[in-house]
This record gives sequence, C-alpha cells and structure tokens, in this order.
Amino acid sequence: MTYDFDLFVIGAGSGGVRAARFAAGFGAKVAVAESRYLGGTCVNVGCVPKKLMVYAAHVADEMEQAAGFGWTLEEGHFDWGTLIANKNREIERLNGIYRNLLVNSGVTLLEGHARLTGANEVEIDGQRYSAKHILIATGGWPLVPDIPGKELAITSNEAFYLKQLPKRILVVGGGYIAVEFAGIFQGLGSATSLLYRGDLFLRGFDGSVRTHLKDELDKRGVDLQFNSDIQRIDQQADGSLKATLKDGRELLTDCVFYATGRRPMLDNLGLEHTGVELDERGFVRVDDQYQTTEPSILAIGDVIGRVQLTPVALAEGMAVARRLFKPEQYRPVDYRNIPTAVFSQPPIGTVGLTEEQAIEAGHKVRVFESRFRAMKLTLTEIQEKTLMKLVVDADSDKVLGCHMVGPDAGEIIQGLGIALKAGATKAQFDETIGVHPTAAEEFVTMRTAMR
Ligand code: FAD
Ligand code: NDP
Repeated sequence: MTYDFDLFVIGAGSGGVRAARFAAGFGAKVAVAESRYLGGTCVNVGCVPKKLMVYAAHVADEMEQAAGFGWTLEEGHFDWGTLIANKNREIERLNGIYRNLLVNSGVTLLEGHARLTGANEVEIDGQRYSAKHILIATGGWPLVPDIPGKELAITSNEAFYLKQLPKRILVVGGGYIAVEFAGIFQGLGSATSLLYRGDLFLRGFDGSVRTHLKDELDKRGVDLQFNSDIQRIDQQADGSLKATLKDGRELLTDCVFYATGRRPMLDNLGLEHTGVELDERGFVRVDDQYQTTEPSILAIGDVIGRVQLTPVALAEGMAVARRLFKPEQYRPVDYRNIPTAVFSQPPIGTVGLTEEQAIEAGHKVRVFESRFRAMKLTLTEIQEKTLMKLVVDADSDKVLGCHMVGPDAGEIIQGLGIALKAGATKAQFDETIGVHPTAAEEFVTMRTAMR
C-alpha cells in the first residue's frame, strides 16, 4: 500500500520537530502539523520565555549587589511592557527559525489542527492525509483544579502575556513552575505568596535542597504558605480577587496563578478512531519504543507523561526517527541520571539519586554537604547561602547524586551529569583538580562525610 507520507507528526514542539527533521534527513517523506505555535511549549510558553523572565528578575539581585563593588546606581525602574514586548520579539524570531529548520529539511509543514481519522489517516481542515507511521507529539496543557472561580485564575500560558505586573500575586503549587514563577514575580517587584498543599514544596527533590530553598525564599521575603489550599476565588468590587482557603482564611490579591501540573493535550485528537489506549493517569500508553497500542501510531514527549523536559522530548524524537528510518543508529533513551535545573532564585541543579531515594533503594550512603556564602556576596550585605551535596554509595564509592542550590546551579550540574553517566567514584571527584576560585570547585573538595 502507498501512503502520502512515511511519517506524519502531530505537533511541532520539542519532540515533534526533532523527530520530523531527523526522519526527513534519513530520507523519509515527512509531514508535521501544528495548530498553535512553531517550537511548541518550550519556545512559546515554557523554557525560553521563562528563562528570559528569570534573567529579568535576577537584574534586581545584581543591582542590590552593585553598591558593595563601588557602584552607585540611580534608583531602578522596571517596565513590564518593555520586557514582554522584547520577549515576544525574540519568540517570533525563534518561530521563524523553526519554520526554516523544518522547510529546509524537506518536511511538509501543515498549519492547522490535526485529528486522527484512522490508524493511518489524519485530517486537517477537511483534507485527509495517509501515512505509514503517525507520531503523536502534542505535548501538555496546564491543569487547574475544579474550584469555584477557577476561571478568574491564570496559568503559565497567560503569565507570559499579562498586561501589567500584578502588585500582589498568589502562586499555587509546589513544583517547578510554581517555584520558578514565585522567584520571577518576587524579583520583579510583586508581593508574592506561594501556596502549597503539603508540608514542603518540590516533592521528589532532595530533602536538603527543599529546606535550603525554603530558607532562601524566606530570606528574600517570599510569603511561603505550606499546608494551604484554595477553596474558592471571588472577584471583588474593586477588581481584586479574594481567595478563600480550605482552613477558612481569606487572602486578597490581584492575581491567582495556578501551577498545579499539566495534563496531556489530547483535545479533539480523534483517538477514538484508533486503538490508542491511555494509561491510568490519562497519558498515551506506549511501550519502550514509543509504540502505542495501535501499531502504526507512536507517541513521545509530554503526552506520554514520562519525564516532562525538553531534552527528554528531543531524545525521544531522535530515538523514534532512528528506529523507523535509520535502525542501525538506534539507541534507546537512557532515563537514568537525567540532569535538571529549577530556575528558582537561587536556582537548583540536580542529577542522580536524592539521599532519600538512595536509602530507599537499599544503598548504604555517605553524604557530603557544604553550605557557604558565595565569594561574590562577600563585599555585599546579602546573606544568601549556596548548598552543594554529594550522595555516595559507601560500598562501591560511586557518586549516586549531585545536588546544588545556588548561582549557576543549572550550568554546573550539566558537567556533573557526564561524570555520573560515566560512573564516577567519589575518589575520582577528589582526584579532580578544582577550578579556582569558583563555587563549582566545592564539588571536588568536600572531604568529610556528614552522615
Ligand atoms: P510541546 O512542546 O508542548 O509541543 C506540542 C505541540 O503540539 C504544540 O506546539 C501544540 O500546539 C501542538 N499540538 C497539540 N495538539 C495538536 C493537534 N491536534 N494538531 C496540531 N498540533 C497540535 N523543560 C525544560 O527542559 N526546561 C525548562 O526550563 C522548562 N521550562 C518550562 C516552563 C514552563 C512554564 C512549562 C509549561 C514547561 C517547561 N518545560 C521545561 C517543559 C517543556 O516545555 C516540555 O517538556 C516540552 O515542551 C515538551 O515537548 P513536546 O514536544 O512533548 O510538546
Ligand atoms: P509539577 O508536577 O512539577 O508540580 C505540580 C505541583 O502542583 C505539585 O507541587 C503538586 O503537589 C501540586 N498540585 C497538583 N495538583 C494539585 C491540586 N489539585 N491542588 C493543589 N496543588 C496541586 O508541575 P508544574 O506545573 O510545576 O510543571 C509541569 C512540568 O513541566 C514539570 O514537572 C517539569 O517536568 C516541567 N517543567 C520543567 C521546568 C524545568 O526544567 N526547569 C520548568 C517548568 C516546568 P504534590 O507534590 O503534593 O503532588
């Protein structure tokens, strides 16, 4: 049987673009459908604009530090409109780059909503296309709990396009997005509260990292409210919002921002015309080669709910392209030791097992921990502390996990990710000569185990 395309990719986000481009490069006839924005979540309402806003918030720190180095600055004034306009211009530039990348690699770009009409057929704007393989790479969408007044709240999607910087904001959630945006808004000058339903945010991260970040956000004046959850939101006559908490307290604010996780984007995708099944959490069920329960249909990225990070979606997209069209180069994605950063203020960098996970996995652990005031702050009044931590297997001496809270944590942890992938031991960390004077050298100079 002949098909219009060898591969039809639904979604031109991180995973879809990677799979489409490489499949086309391997000689396949490829189409990609995109309904909203080229580059997907990461480029438009995720990693990229978020990081630009983190930089914007960080300027406040730099200005505070300046006096210690002899600089006298005029009182700074921040203009939200300028930041958003500049950010939008950069995103448009990236959209154009993605368009060129796809077109130049020979991929047919179809702009519109794609709906499956069968195991080998997709419909866009009334036009049907057949394909030997179909790849679902439709990503995710913010999930807001179903409470009265939820329509008054915003999510990360809207946060990037607010008309004004809110004077007061309540950020709800305790994951990556909540912690990152609490830092952004606090840094830019909003009176920021972070409400989390549990005892301590960032569940799943190392315990020392969680408490360290909590202490640092306290110092910065973020109003942390743990064991707090909103029951309802009501608009006030003056346009402000009243959040009534489950414990009866009432908080007045200008903006309620929900960052309570993301669901798979399956809206009007036509899965009912196929044999694609969902898992118990509602994500697309795939095997270890990303094949769904419909043999001609594959799925990758956030829509499979495995690890919701751009580099993981890229790796999965690459794995699919190779498996289908360059099998001799196929290598499965290694989900162990994925380095990751939370771009909070200060940021977190982490790779490998947390102390808690290592103990639970049965390791006898040696823990090395260091807390210090970064050299850059010694001429300033700022009392922020950096945390570095190594979790080591006492029997094999292998480093199981590296964790950091402090400036440039994301940059530093990338290199340590390579060390862990190579199976480095603590002795090899110790034998590595430090780069002086840096904060990173602390990772190779921690000699005495704390536990
Ligand atoms: P997406 O990038 O979401 O792409 C899916 C695409 O499919 C979208 O463009 C969508 O419009 C399109 N689509 C959906 N349905 C259809 C349809 N029926 N027809 C046609 N097109 C369709 N990850 C990091 O690694 N680092 C970060 O710093 C980071 N920051 C983030 C910050 C925020 C606020 C958010 C929300 C996410 C962040 N992420 C970050 C996560 C990262 O953005 C995602 O893991 C990544 O984008 C997933 O890629 P994907 O290809 O699975 O989906
Ligand atoms: P996360 O899954 O990271 O966190 C969701 C948070 O919301 C958790 O603290 C969770 O609490 C809480 N929560 C869930 N449901 C409710 C509810 N009904 N009421 C109150 N609180 C609730 O999701 P995010 O939205 O922060 O981010 C989505 C994903 O995007 C991340 O997991 C990450 O993979 C990716 N991302 C990556 C970034 C990066 O690499 N820097 C940045 C931003 C996003 P509990 O822990 O108790 O379940």
